[in-house]
Amino acid sequence: MKFFIRLRRSIYHTRSHKLYLANKEVARHLVHKRVSHFLQYYNSKHGISVGKIAIRNQRSRWGSCSKKGNLNFNYKLVFLTPAQQDYIIVHEICHIKEFNHAKAFWDLVAETIPDWKKLRSELKKVGRVE
Ligand SMILES: [Zn+2]
Repeated sequence: MKFFIRLRRSIYHTRSHKLYLANKEVARHLVHKRVSHFLQYYNSKHGISVGKIAIRNQRSRWGSCSKKGNLNFNYKLVFLTPAQQDYIIVHEICHIKEFNHAKAFWDLVAETIPDWKKLRSELKKVGRVE
């Protein structure tokens, strides 16, 4: 009986890990596509360029930005709406220029995501963006 339970669990674990990897790949594809889309604007207008992009399994963050301009995104992005995904992506791109949440930062976000306030409050219910 014990053996049976252990076996069942390991099957479940393998499946969920495969599902995680599959979702991570979808997230990677989506993030790269949308980052390059928004960079066409932010690079030509504000000279912003992005370093490395990583997709991670983070517990409570949707995304983060390092001082070197490297961006991290949560693979769980795949479960959000396209508008919410774009907001998270633009939020992190704008941090490369404005490493804070001052007015200049939100003005920069609003240039491509005019309804960022609405999206921000939607996401507050499910997690954080930093
Ligand atoms: Zn932020």
